[in-house]
Amino acid sequence: MKLLEERIRKDGIIREGGVLKVDSFINHQMDIPLFREMAREWKRLFAGKPINKVLTIEASGIGIAAIVASELNVPVVFAKKAMSINLDYDNYETQIQSFTHKKIYNVIVSKKFLTPNDHVLIVDDFLANGCALMGLLTLAQEAGATVEGIGIAVEKGFQPGGDLVRARGIQLESLAIVESMDAATGEVVFRPQPHQS
Ligand code: 5GP
Repeated sequence: MKLLEERIRKDGIIREGGVLKVDSFINHQMDIPLFREMAREWKRLFAGKPINKVLTIEASGIGIAAIVASELNVPVVFAKKAMSINLDYDNYETQIQSFTHKKIYNVIVSKKFLTPNDHVLIVDDFLANGCALMGLLTLAQEAGATVEGIGIAVEKGFQPGGDLVRARGIQLESLAIVESMDAATGEVVFRPQPHQS
């Protein structure tokens, strides 16, 4: 999506170690008109899919997912990072390794809010190694829910997450795929995606 690529070029900050900071418009301050345009693009890309719920993970996925849910007129559920496992038997649970904090989290979602009747669109801000996404896929699978697709704002194409998910045959729409980025020059190269606006 050209709009998001241009915004990353303008306001993204490249850190050493393959980290892209997008704090001024996604991860800390949130640009809601931009999120709305992203939500409309996902609505177009997933048109015809019987999505009845958006699923994300706290914290930074929630803002984008809420706007997507508003655009699709469905509820949004976020998986919670929990301190210890088996807090409550009415939860689905799995473990996720955090890229940013280098920790392992237990994540839970209540059995009340994810069921075999659900056709979910998973939404998140970043896709890097794919751990967060694999965790959400596990929770959906445990619940017997159908994953209709995955919408990611920024995929780092030089990390393996995108390939892992595409290998599972799930429609993955990342609105910007960073092929390479250079902390010294600030140069960012995006993967061309002709089917996107
Ligand atoms: P993964 O589990 O795919 O390795 O990483 C996904 C999560 O890590 C995202 O939800 C995001 O919060 C965080 N993350 C991964 N790479 C980056 C990055 O380059 N910049 C930022 N801001 N967050 C990242």
